[in-house]
Amino acid sequence: MKASTRKLVLERDPYCFHCGESNDLVVHHRRNRGHGGSKLLDKPEWLMAVCASYNGEMESDAWVAIAARALGHKLRSWESHSLPVFDVVTQLWYVLETNGTKEIYEDGEGRY
Ligand SMILES: [Zn+2]
Repeated sequence: MKASTRKLVLERDPYCFHCGESNDLVVHHRRNRGHGGSKLLDKPEWLMAVCASYNGEMESDAWVAIAARALGHKLRSWESHSLPVFDVVTQLWYVLETNGTKEIYEDGEGRY
């Protein structure tokens, strides 16, 4: 991952989406890169900041992984980055944009 991409993600996401921790953040790939690791997934819309402990639990604990999928923190190989991510701190869903920003997700009826 480019240092500039990492910096952009950590500026966009100043805390862990899952617990609000602002120290010990890592840049998490929402979709597994698989073997070989696709560079296409090294883009802001596929990345999010989480704390190191949550990052580890998503990999090691199947229940955490299931919950992470429901929150948009983990995506399956066929899922789009346009699926929103839940921010536990603000209790809002966000869409991570390709330009490195995040927008509050609204459904078709204008609800947040
Ligand atoms: Zn956390």
